Amino acid sequence: MKYISTRGQAPALDFEDVVLTGLAPDGGLYVPETLPEFSQEEIASWAGLSYEELAFKIMAPFVSGAVSDAELKQIISEAYSSFRHDAIAPLVQTAHNEWILELFQGPTLAFKDFALQFLGHLLDHLLKKRQQKVVVMGATSGDTGSAAIEGCRRCDNIDIYILHPYKRVSDVQRRQMTTVLEDNVHNIALEGNFDDCQNMVKASFGDQSFLPEDRQLVAVNSINWARIMAQIVYYFYAGLALGAPARPISFSVPTGNFGDIFAGYLAKRMGLPIDQLVIATNSNDILHRCLSGNDHSKQPLQHTLSPSMDIMVSSNFERMLFDLYDRDGDKIRGLMEDFKSGAMHLDESALSKARELFSSYKVDDDVMLEVIRDVFERTEYLLDPHTAIGLKAARETRRRQDIPMVCLATAHPAKFPEAVRKAGQDTDPALPHHMADLFQREERYEVLANDIGTVQSYIAKNLKA
Ligand SMILES: *Cc1c(COP(=O)(O)O)cnc(C)c1O
Repeated sequence: MKYISTRGQAPALDFEDVVLTGLAPDGGLYVPETLPEFSQEEIASWAGLSYEELAFKIMAPFVSGAVSDAELKQIISEAYSSFRHDAIAPLVQTAHNEWILELFQGPTLAFKDFALQFLGHLLDHLLKKRQQKVVVMGATSGDTGSAAIEGCRRCDNIDIYILHPYKRVSDVQRRQMTTVLEDNVHNIALEGNFDDCQNMVKASFGDQSFLPEDRQLVAVNSINWARIMAQIVYYFYAGLALGAPARPISFSVPTGNFGDIFAGYLAKRMGLPIDQLVIATNSNDILHRCLSGNDHSKQPLQHTLSPSMDIMVSSNFERMLFDLYDRDGDKIRGLMEDFKSGAMHLDESALSKARELFSSYKVDDDVMLEVIRDVFERTEYLLDPHTAIGLKAARETRRRQDIPMVCLATAHPAKFPEAVRKAGQDTDPALPHHMADLFQREERYEVLANDIGTVQSYIAKNLKA
């Protein structure tokens, strides 16, 4: 399968090269040239497959020509063996025909493990075959860093450098990164804020001359196509468990960069009968403003109790725009050029297509806390703040009670003790067993000045892979 850029001016790449790159050279994001579509009979025949078996059916067409069937099966089996729950993505019922899809059973307790466990093992296989070593570089304000580190820690051909803002991530989140002591894992605490970290990563991708000649940077944020691909699987898994394709299913997704819900949209295009796809946002509501009032404008960042959704702009929305504009790369280039001014307006036809595909709803901190409290009182089930936002948005936008509503639980509540306490719990939620000693473990990280020369020479000098 070939992959093309949303801005229409970069060469098409095959799967291997798409995984090993970042943005397209024209500034766009890569998407598959065509999407595989499955018939209703074929989807029906998958009822009862294990998560791993289903993942193989769904991902095989995307990797054809680059990864053999046997290899893909092995990568999937390695990636999901680190999950605690046998079902990988179990469902829990919270009300009549309302379900929570627990996507936090992986090693770092957030849904990002689904994509990053897979990506780590995939990279390992590709690099071994190519006899190549790479440098993974990323910035994190929370969940991505630890999931990426867990995904890459056992990869012989990868050095991973994760930048976090010094003293500005929570203790749980920092320790999940800094207590991983493998030689190829490098945590940098930058004396700056998250934007400084991100700008440094962007600049480094733009000019990689600080690296030895035989190394290149690989992106592990959600612009990497393989992450989106791996996330399509759990929509099918939940759908099949609740009676699809014989009946439709709806999903509500706590949304930040639009990676997760974009995977849901792809699942629908590939044949899963999805009725509603709900975009749930916190006070950083650019997507809700865009859908409800055609206001896609940058607003100042707000720090909320659901920090993994604190974004000003959703980077993967460009992939959606590409489809809304009938895959016209010139149009997308124009829109993104306009957006440099801080705002863009969608055409009537693009906007009405978007409104047909998605519902949207915004939930602020106070309402979110009430939801955690209310659900706990009724069911003794403890939601994390991101999941609570998704559940509230589902309840407010739902059109039909007879269609199952699946709310994606993107993190375990133990990752966000502050919000949980504010919602009325008098103790911090317990960390799962494998992390119970997190606060006793040895930490290792390097505090570096907010200076690109310092960071780049640290990277070049400490390669271990
Ligand atoms: C990353 C993240 C999100 C947002 O997902 P996107 O794919 O960026 O929209 C939501 N909740 C949690 C807990 C996350 O870590």
